[in-house]
Parts: sequence; C-alpha cells; structure tokens
Amino acid sequence: MLKAFKYRLYPTQPQLRDLDRTLMLCRSLYNAALQERREAYRKAGKTVGFYEQKRYLPEIRTELPEYKGVHSQVLQNVIERVDRAFQGFFRRVKAGQKAGYPRFKGKGRYDSFTFPQAGTTGVKLQGGGKRVLLYGIGSVKVKLHRPLEGRLKTATVKREGEHWYIVFTCEVEPRPLPPNDQAIGIDLGTNPHFLVTSEGERVEAPRYFQKAQAKLAAAQRSLARKKRGSNRRKQARKRVAKLHRKIANQRRDFHHKLARKLVNHYGTIAHEDLNILGLAPSRTAKGVLDAGWAQFLAILAYKAEEAGRRVIGVDPKHTSQDCPVCGHREKRPLWVREYTCPQCGTLLHRDVAAARNILARARTEPAGTWAAWAVP
Ligand SMILES: [Zn+2]
Repeated sequence: MLKAFKYRLYPTQPQLRDLDRTLMLCRSLYNAALQERREAYRKAGKTVGFYEQKRYLPEIRTELPEYKGVHSQVLQNVIERVDRAFQGFFRRVKAGQKAGYPRFKGKGRYDSFTFPQAGTTGVKLQGGGKRVLLYGIGSVKVKLHRPLEGRLKTATVKREGEHWYIVFTCEVEPRPLPPNDQAIGIDLGTNPHFLVTSEGERVEAPRYFQKAQAKLAAAQRSLARKKRGSNRRKQARKRVAKLHRKIANQRRDFHHKLARKLVNHYGTIAHEDLNILGLAPSRTAKGVLDAGWAQFLAILAYKAEEAGRRVIGVDPKHTSQDCPVCGHREKRPLWVREYTCPQCGTLLHRDVAAARNILARARTEPAGTWAAWAVP
C-alpha cells in the first residue's frame, strides 16, 4: 500500500527562483496541452490523447531550451494531469453529473510538480536525509521530522503560501494489529461534536482548533475592510491564507489522532456512507463540517487498511429517526437532542442512537436484538 510523507523544504534564494520558474513552465505546458485538446475537440470533434501529447515533449525541449531545466518525467506528469482532468470531465458527463470543462490554470492556481519515478530518477536524498537533490533545482535543505519508510515511488514538490514542501509516496508493507472483535459505530456529529460513538462518547474538535477558527473569522472581517489594491489588503490576505493553512494542518492532525485511536481499539468501525449521506436533505444542517468528514473517513479507511481492520460505510437513511432498542421510527427536529422512545420508554441521545443504528446496520442484525441501553 502507498503511504505519503510530507516534509518542509528550505530552499535558498536562487533555488526559490528555480522552483518558481519550474512551476511557471509546468503551468504553461499544462495550459498549452489543455488548449490543444480543446481546439481539437471543438474543430474536429476528436480527442487528443495522453500518448499523442507526450510524443511532442522532446520537441518542446529542443525548441524551448528553458524546458531542459525541467526533468522529462516531470513534464510527462503535467500531460498526465491534463489527461486526468479530461477523464474526470468525461466521467462526470457520462454519469449525468454537472461537469465543468477542464479549466486553464491561472497564476497561483498551479502549485506543484511531480517526479513520477522518484525512486529511480530525478530525486535523491543526501547527507543522511538532511538534503534532497532535485533535478533542475539542486541540493535543497529538507527536514525529515519523521523517518521515511518503504520503497520510494513518487515525489511532489509543492508550494503552500510562502513555504515549500516535498511529499514522498512510498510503497509500505501493511502492519496488521492483533485481531480484535470489538466493533463501534460512529455518527458524524452536529456541532460542537465532531463525532459521537455507539458507546456514547462524544468527540469534540479540539479547543485550539475552535480558537484558530475564531481568529480566521476575525482576519477575514479585517480583510474585507481593507481598500482594494492597497498594501495593507495584501498583508491581510496573506494573514488569512496563513490561518487557513494552519487550520487545515490542525484539522488533519486531529483526524489522524482520532482515526489512530479508533483503529487501535476496534476491529470493526461502522460509519455513515458519505456518498449516500450527501443526498439526504435532512443532513444539510451538518453541511459545514462535510469537507472535514470526507478527509477524516479517508484517513480512517487508510489506517484501517494498514492495520488490517474493517471499516464499513452504511446507508444512513433513518439512522437518526429509529429507536435502536425497539425499532420505532419517528421524525424529530434537529434541535431535539434527547428524548424518550414513546414505544419502549428508553431514554436516548439522538446522535448516540444514530451511532448504534449505524453499527447495527453494519452487523446486518436488527437493532432490536441488542440489549437495552440507557444514555451514558
Ligand atoms: Zn424504542
């Protein structure tokens, strides 16, 4: 299985210029390849494929010498990205979904380049992992805050605001945890709960994370007050972007820790299937957290696979309406958090009940066969 390792790069001033130039060249190539496909499609109704476009690359490197400073496989990867954008577009069209035509990348909208075979060419770790030699850039200082594992496959060099990072993907052997027959259901919670478990545990997003969000809101208000085109607006925008990144990092960190905890303790973890959840209008009140959940569930699935655990997505329909003890179904407004089941008299917490229904569904047992429980 593949595992990603992200490290900060510390380029010198000349290296910074080379990194920016590489991005610029990749972006130009991306837009040119996109343009060619658009025109071929518009004029002749035909599609230009990946291999067809790839064949031009040596020619481009001869005619535009600045492209010699970029590794040929990095350029191939640019063509591959265009190809992927089109494939995604055609797939969405075919599925009858709303599909935007692949777009040109503006400045600042293209922020990474990839060495697709970093294990063999283009990238080399040096000095016991203190530096990394990048084709076209040179030997760049890197901080491996955790050790790289497995067999190196790809390396992506990435700009985030003013910082640069390198993301290695490596092939690693799964490390199964000892077998565990404990099972848990999780309900993706309503604010302030990130999730609620079938055992009644309510997990909140960490305090510092909530604080950072309040800070971000303040920074955004301040940005809105600054005059367009002014220097202070530029500063304010930088501050907002920085806070965004900080929050994204904190969120990811929180997701990793929570997923790790669940995977360590339970052999089976059941959750609502987000693809189905997206269609349920009653859940729009939870919408604000959606993006976070998708990432969390992806991390959870990944860690579970690595550890040999089971993660099951179930149809979330009615999970927040059914009584997990007797199966009585009743619609309740979202603000009703705790209630007594009119049929069996059990005192229930809405999200905990939902988590228990989710777990029951994963077990494909009727929820009612479980022992009765009270709200913890
Ligand atoms: Zn009941």
